[in-house]
Amino acid sequence: MRTAHPRTGPGPVGGPDALVKEDRPLDRAAARQAVAALIAALGVPAGGEVARRTPERVVAGLAELLDRPGFEFTTFPNTAEQHDLVLVRAIPFTSVCAHHLLPFSGVAHVGVLPGHRLVGLSKLARAVAWCAAGLQVQEELGQQVARFVEERMGARGVGVVLVAEHACMNRRGVRALGAETVTVAARGALADDPAARDEFLRLTGVAA
Ligand SMILES: [Zn+2]
Repeated sequence: MRTAHPRTGPGPVGGPDALVKEDRPLDRAAARQAVAALIAALGVPAGGEVARRTPERVVAGLAELLDRPGFEFTTFPNTAEQHDLVLVRAIPFTSVCAHHLLPFSGVAHVGVLPGHRLVGLSKLARAVAWCAAGLQVQEELGQQVARFVEERMGARGVGVVLVAEHACMNRRGVRALGAETVTVAARGALADDPAARDEFLRLTGVAA
């Protein structure tokens, strides 16, 4: 099976100047007005001094969850000839559910089968944080991280396991307190090579 996935991967990409950046416009005044209108529309009585700045705080909190600070996804030549799995486990993340505008949070396990290039390990955690800063569902987030890492590293394979609790499911609706959602996003050899996929899932703790 491994012969189907040459160790060279799709070729060198990224590099030391692979700055990841995205400016998202934020109209704070309009957002504050909208939050104030929402609170009023929900029939919540206008608060006194304590609640006066609530719209501002809500906007600041959401803006922080959605903010994507730029970073360099630093890669370097694979002179170590590391062709086996590199796995960073238990990267904490928080994202915002696109269906309910409520947070979901947990940990990400990101595994890579390197091609021509290796990546600074902390950059895998940065990639998770960068992708998590947005409105999305968990399935999208996992696929987004996997694509992000695969494209920028030219990796032979990438696997992303997310284990998360969703406020929209734990605190409302079915109120399944403590229920965890596990998603797997695998690309390249970690999707196609059963032995590589098994090793990855075993080391993440998802498979026995
Ligand atoms: Zn939700």
